[in-house]
Amino acid sequence: MIGNKHLVLDLSVILDLWLKPESSRATEEIFACAAEHGTCLWVSAASLPTLEFIAVRRFKEKGVNADGAARDLAKRLIVNLLGQVKVLSNKGFEQADVYLHAHEFEDAQIAASARCLPAGRVRLVSTDASFDALGELPVYPAEQALEWMQSTTGSAANELNFIDLATQQAALRPQIERNIETVLRHGQYIMGPEVKQLEEKLATYVGVKHCITASSGTDTLLIAMMALGIGRGDEIITTPFTFVATGEMIALLGATPVFVDIDPKTYNIDPTRIEAAITARTKAIMPVSLYGQCADMDAINAIANKHGLPVIEDAAQSFGATYKGKKSCALSTIGSTSFFPSKPLGGYGDGGALFTDDDDLAKAMREIRVHGQDRRYHHPRIGINGRLDTLQAAVVLAKMERFNWEVEERHKVGDGYTAMLASRCQGIVTPYIEPYNTSVYAQYSILVANRDNVAKRLNEKGIPTAVHYPVPLNQQPAYRSVGGGSATPISDEISRRVMSLPMGPDLTSSQQQAIVEVLNGSINA
Ligand SMILES: *Cc1c(COP(=O)(O)O)cnc(C)c1O
Repeated sequence: MIGNKHLVLDLSVILDLWLKPESSRATEEIFACAAEHGTCLWVSAASLPTLEFIAVRRFKEKGVNADGAARDLAKRLIVNLLGQVKVLSNKGFEQADVYLHAHEFEDAQIAASARCLPAGRVRLVSTDASFDALGELPVYPAEQALEWMQSTTGSAANELNFIDLATQQAALRPQIERNIETVLRHGQYIMGPEVKQLEEKLATYVGVKHCITASSGTDTLLIAMMALGIGRGDEIITTPFTFVATGEMIALLGATPVFVDIDPKTYNIDPTRIEAAITARTKAIMPVSLYGQCADMDAINAIANKHGLPVIEDAAQSFGATYKGKKSCALSTIGSTSFFPSKPLGGYGDGGALFTDDDDLAKAMREIRVHGQDRRYHHPRIGINGRLDTLQAAVVLAKMERFNWEVEERHKVGDGYTAMLASRCQGIVTPYIEPYNTSVYAQYSILVANRDNVAKRLNEKGIPTAVHYPVPLNQQPAYRSVGGGSATPISDEISRRVMSLPMGPDLTSSQQQAIVEVLNGSINA
């Protein structure tokens, strides 16, 4: 667990560490066991010049005589320090406003820089009792900070979010700021260099030839189907148990979504029911890799091949998952994912990406993304404005730096839930993951009998829940008359019982234990 709590170290404690070993035991201890207690250590950029200035002066007073030697020593110590702490910048906050109320400008700068960290989970460590943090954050001496760090108070257990994006943001803050700042400097807001960098990085990660980023995981589905020439009168076979975008883009193109019922264990489209739904008008199969677990793509591809149909994997929830050792998005004609903030690889706004090994489809999708143009003001096909913003690409690039770690944590958290629930809670059906799959648990969704009551009890105890999805697409008012296909009793039944628990790479095991405890009580109440 990284970054559930945050300590901003004032230069006074750093100087003690360097100059007065006798009074810096607690600070040493903070450095030694911060990682173990899920604590991020920070130094404000505002402290660094003063830190160097004072350190050099003190080293000279202590007999490090030559000017160069004292400077070298200070530099070495600062470089070493920067290997252990992250630097907080305070750009963007209204300095003048802070100064108006400040007694001490440097203190005010430090307080301003701490504003980007999750309030309530931040303490400033200082030896200076009169440090004026302008009421922005509590100021602790090192001993008290150490105690706070080692205790469970102030940990995220008190403020459980359905998806905790703040911890990830704090962990990646310097990378995110650097990437955004770079875009603001070069100013290429549309199709800037970060877009290409991200596409290369994602194509390598997934293991396909082409990645085409786009404006959302909805637009990627639209672009994919436009590239395949899907339109009026065509039929696309898909699942009713999904987010609306899947069926929506089919209908928007004037095609008919043909809803095929789901597998009762994985809730993904049931491949054994697909063939019966194929007609002369069928133009593609669009499975969804729900909750972060891939559909049975080998079985789906085999049927598609037999009938000469392309397959689009709606992998909006499964980026980072694997199917028989291959990555989601690399499993079919086209893979489509989303960077919606709460998805496994989320940005800070809308975005998405398409993946394919097919050169012609890649070219078509690239052109459709930019108004169907192959060169400036020349339009061989009809397209859309479907580009990913450069700023969004910059954010997703920063998120990639932690993504492998996050996928590992998602496995641990998801599997951890399943183990705890299996041993503690009767009457709950935990997610079934096929032995050849690894899920990224975009959602951790269970089945319960009395969902509304259970959710109400959990919510009363401060545990947020959600339902993905309460109404299958073929039962939605707008789709009842649009969709084809037979009855989907399994999808109907699952949508009545399914419920999602808080999930994410930064959910701690103590948070999970607390959730499972309350859930256990709620089921049996
Ligand atoms: C989120 C999601 C989408 C749409 O992605 P956006 O980026 O929000 O447009 C499509 N399909 C599924 C299954 C999703 O979960």
